[in-house]
Amino acid sequence: MTDVADALRAHFDTGATATRRWRVTQLRALRDLLRRHQHRIEAALAADLGKPAAEVVITEIGPVIGEIDHALRRLRRWMRPRRVRLPYQYLPARARVLRQPLGVVAIIGPWNYPVHLVLNPLVGALAAGNAVVIKPSELAPATSALLAELLPLHLDPSAVAVVEGGPEAVTDLLRQRLDHIFFTGSERVGRIVAEAAATTLTPVTLELGGKSPVYVDGSVDLTAAARRIMWGKLLNSGQTCVAPDYLLATPEVAGRLVPHLARAAEEFYGPEPAANPDYGRIVSQGHTERLSGLLDGHVAAFGGAVDVPARHVAPTVIDGADPDSPLMCEEIFGPVLPIVHVASAQAAIDFITARPKPLALYVFSRRRRVRRAFIRGTTSGGLCFDLPTAHLAAPELPFGGVGASGMGAYHGETSFETFSHSRSVLDKPLRPDTVRLLYPPYRGRRAALSVRLMHGRSVGPAAP
Ligand code: NAD
Repeated sequence: MTDVADALRAHFDTGATATRRWRVTQLRALRDLLRRHQHRIEAALAADLGKPAAEVVITEIGPVIGEIDHALRRLRRWMRPRRVRLPYQYLPARARVLRQPLGVVAIIGPWNYPVHLVLNPLVGALAAGNAVVIKPSELAPATSALLAELLPLHLDPSAVAVVEGGPEAVTDLLRQRLDHIFFTGSERVGRIVAEAAATTLTPVTLELGGKSPVYVDGSVDLTAAARRIMWGKLLNSGQTCVAPDYLLATPEVAGRLVPHLARAAEEFYGPEPAANPDYGRIVSQGHTERLSGLLDGHVAAFGGAVDVPARHVAPTVIDGADPDSPLMCEEIFGPVLPIVHVASAQAAIDFITARPKPLALYVFSRRRRVRRAFIRGTTSGGLCFDLPTAHLAAPELPFGGVGASGMGAYHGETSFETFSHSRSVLDKPLRPDTVRLLYPPYRGRRAALSVRLMHGRSVGPAAP
């Protein structure tokens, strides 16, 4: 275990992973793995999370294949050195930016989308020509074991390794020499990773979570809005980092919206979601108990049923939630949607900006003034109008948090940049030696000329 990064580095140092041919071969092999073993992946996710096969294809396998195809189509362009212009004072000279692989990178994943959230960053890491060590979540053990078996078989095993285990495996990994750490998970563990990385000055990308709000006003079709909100909320039983966490609306809009939310949940999962194979399970009994605790003291507008041994929580809406209740103080990460009443769109904006910056913010409004107010008045990792969650699967949209919801981003070219070093290369011929004018001693006309040469008239002459 302690030698994983060193062994990968020895291979990386041969330069084998830097060629375009190697990168393309690895990306194609990864796509091949996903296609050939689709049914085993579906079975592992059913065992770990009770995920329906369709959801596995839509949210785990499909987006990764989409990223691979996107990267394969653009890799040549991404890898091309970029010529840049120099200020006239540098001339004659040439400059370019090279994107170099970082070296050995670690990808540490969570359990909720245990395939997508390690393989999607892997696409960027391979496209950028790195050696990679992956640590999947121990809370999705069947998926972790499957990745540990399949990745070294299909990809270059000298450049891609999988280590399994829990916190101790991460602690071991963070002690090794790494060039980048890509972590997806909770804010709590994000801090642990960032602290460990600080001791070795290893750069980190932190893809964290938090409470992503949704605002709805009366200008939209509430039936359609309710369907979209419940789809985003109930996908994977609410265990999605960008799921709408809570809803803000005026009491009047909330009152009209709740029956639509109830109807949407029933349309999707029937009157008995516990018996519906399309409705996923909560990852563990512990998390089911945590959700049950969050519901204590609340009266559900609908839903509210919890079955701890079966790891089931029914689609639940709490109307008129107290902003200071535990339900509103931590990320819910389950199929429970509290509605907090606000007086106006501006009050919703004030509510959001008074709290940590969210990973995603969703606004359902046809009013341009309201949309503009949310764009200008708030910040969040992503902002989506009229559709939650799906921005996650669009390769051209950088995906990441801001503030407490994370640092750094990935997907598409942003992944390539995250896993590359932009190296500046300047090439200035020795002759003619135009730099001569800058050499000391700084006296007389020569000093004035140096300043003028470097900065034109934007600064005054240096003191004599
Ligand atoms: P987690 O932070 O508990 O675990 C993530 C990883 O950290 C796992 O591989 C785990 O083994 C490791 N880990 C756990 N405790 C550790 C410790 N003490 N020291 C070192 N490593 C440790 O997160 P989770 O419960 O797997 O996932 C849920 C969280 O992840 C939620 O907060 C969710 O919002 C967030 N998330 C974010 C994204 C995103 O893309 N931004 C995606 C999915 C989940």
